[in-house]
Amino acid sequence: GSTPVTVIGLGAMGQALATAFLDAGHPTTVWNRTAAKADPLVTKGAVRAETVAEAVAASPLIVVCVLDYAAVHGLLGPAAEELSGRALVNLTNGTAQEARTSAQWAAELGAEYVDGGIMAIPPTIGTPDSVILYSGSQQAFNTHSTALDLLGASKFLGTDAGLASLHDLALLGAMYGMFAGAYNAIAMVGTEKVAAAEFTDELLVPWLRSMVAVLPMLAEEVDSAAAVSEERKLVERVALTNIIDTAKAQGVAANFVNPLQAIKDNT
Ligand code: NDP
Repeated sequence: GSTPVTVIGLGAMGQALATAFLDAGHPTTVWNRTAAKADPLVTKGAVRAETVAEAVAASPLIVVCVLDYAAVHGLLGPAAEELSGRALVNLTNGTAQEARTSAQWAAELGAEYVDGGIMAIPPTIGTPDSVILYSGSQQAFNTHSTALDLLGASKFLGTDAGLASLHDLALLGAMYGMFAGAYNAIAMVGTEKVAAAEFTDELLVPWLRSMVAVLPMLAEEVDSAAAVSEERKLVERVALTNIIDTAKAQGVAANFVNPLQAIKDNT
């Protein structure tokens, strides 16, 4: 039969994770601080653990997904003795350093630790749109990859437990950079009463889509440390200066472009 799985933390994400395991027929034990959040899962066949220690003791694979690492350690600390010999997969968002510290902590308890970064939202868990990054114990990842693959496309990045967080946060940073640029663009045309929705649908989204296609070329330049031509440097400098000057003249800060201009000035 399928491996028994325990899911600790039944927020929006934890519920989606537990549902994916249940739907695939895994015996699933659940625990949440606010016990009532387990009710819909129990209706579907999950077993409600009364304590975290009981939840940990129920399965060889423990998946934790709560708000932050302080919550993870607050919960697992009192159940530490039960962790020996089990695989702990922590899908809580945190820093690379927090992941490494947790891996050390788990190793001292005799547990196999895998850290994960969920590149998905709860409704896409269990679909091909969900990508989950993992790092840490290769052995635990291999042993439980069939179960973990139920959550989305699994990518194992290496045995340094911090790698999943590092990649997760790098990707989130790129996303926020794009959002910052989009807000700035909307603010710039907004000074002339152009509606955000119309601008976004007709111009911004198609433009950003076509610019995403340029990223592999940019990455290749970084990898090969290729020298950027003097002509292109000049063109980029003029464009950035024009963006900043026009934004300022229209009363928009354009602060987000300033660091890019500083980088370009130094290359
Ligand atoms: P929710 O706010 O829906 O749920 C938070 C969960 O953490 C609840 O189970 C809550 O318990 C628990 N919790 C918070 N503080 C404590 C504490 N001190 N002790 C015990 N339990 C605690 O958040 P999500 O489920 O959306 O997010 C969970 C993790 O998943 C986060 O790290 C988030 O970054 C990550 N994630 C979420 C995504 C999303 O789109 N939602 C996408 C990618 C990653 P209680 O129910 O009792 O409050």
